[in-house]
Amino acid sequence: WLLPIGIIISCVIVALVIRLLRKRLSPLAELTIAVQQREFVVFYQPIINLTTGACIGAEALVRWRRPDGTMVPPDLFIPLAEESGLILPITDQVVETCVRDLRELLVVDRSLHVAINLSAKDITTGRFLSVVQKALEGTGIHNEQIWLEATERGFIDIEAASTNLAKARALGFGIAIDDFGTGYSSLQYLERLPTDALKIDKCFIAAIGRTVATSSVISHIIDMAKTVGLKVVAEGVETEAQAEYLKAHGVEFAQGWLYAKAMPVEDFLAFVRVEAWREVKGA
Ligand code: C2E
Ligand code: MG
Ligand code: MG
Ligand code: MG
Repeated sequence: WLLPIGIIISCVIVALVIRLLRKRLSPLAELTIAVQQREFVVFYQPIINLTTGACIGAEALVRWRRPDGTMVPPDLFIPLAEESGLILPITDQVVETCVRDLRELLVVDRSLHVAINLSAKDITTGRFLSVVQKALEGTGIHNEQIWLEATERGFIDIEAASTNLAKARALGFGIAIDDFGTGYSSLQYLERLPTDALKIDKCFIAAIGRTVATSSVISHIIDMAKTVGLKVVAEGVETEAQAEYLKAHGVEFAQGWLYAKAMPVEDFLAFVRVEAWREVKGA
């Protein structure tokens, strides 16, 4: 009986040593291991139709779940992932997870979409095109049910960005410009990029009612989007007052803590089930 105990003790010691060693690794080495071990999880934040209150889909937001269970938010590892190129395999894992989750979600509500964030490297290399198409193969999911979000960081090589996003759009994927209004030349990009939707950055939403200047920026963004026929999604809606303002200004879609925070897929499934049930009851 000494043998099994010996084996258990050595396993525990090995596990402890690995944990200690991992703590001493450089952030890049640690992130490399995380990619190999597929330590990324995807949370979903509902996107709401402001007029009907219905959930039309969700944004996929990646988190790094460390072996000790702590969740690392994207802002703390995406920059390093971009710089090192590890973002490409991370995007692969996010896309695969989203497609798998979407299959379950569509059983509850066939009209849902999932919005996936692309990094600058994804957009300039165009690698996401084959990755997304391959993941969708044989699933019966329509390309229209995947939206791709791009920020201005991805438009530095504007030629490559417009070529790749145009290809994606021609295939039926929805294209949204993320964090709109925070960059230098949002308007110029808008002319050159194939786009379906604008996401107004949360810093503008937070300023609603606070400063006259920001409020007028928001109404300009909305007017401009409407003129060129784009959908508008407001990000970071936290109060009823903000929601009312946006509704009054003709914004159709919103996401934010007022409705729900980003959540694990099981919780989002429960969320859409409740929604579907409410609809059946006509409530
Ligand atoms: P984003 O795409 O602009 O995502 C919106 C961020 O706002 C999310 O932060 C979300 O949790 C947060 N948020 C949502 N509602 C509210 C609200 O009412 N109030 C406030 N204060 N915040 C709210 P998160 O999840 O930490 O993501 C941060 C950024 O990381 C994202 O900004 C996106 O640029 C990037 N990111 C997330 N997932 C991915 C991914 O899979 N790939 C890439 N390349 N980037 C990602
Ligand atoms: Mg986004
Ligand atoms: Mg954003
Ligand atoms: Mg952002």
